[in-house]
Amino acid sequence: MRHRACILTDLVDSFEGYFAEHRGCAALAAAIVEAEQRGAAWAVAWMECAGCGVRWERHLKLPA
Ligand SMILES: [Zn+2]
Repeated sequence: MRHRACILTDLVDSFEGYFAEHRGCAALAAAIVEAEQRGAAWAVAWMECAGCGVRWERHLKLPA
């Protein structure tokens, strides 16, 4: 299992790629959060641009 910091960097890097495409859009919502699901910890990044009709989401499992 990779280290937590590596996982979060990976997630943020991919997030920023999508986020950059919609930086100028008015109806942009995005967040990176940590969540407990099915007994495991997950880092979740999501981005939704209502103006473009785009939603992107990625879940990465964190080390216990
Ligand atoms: Zn957009």
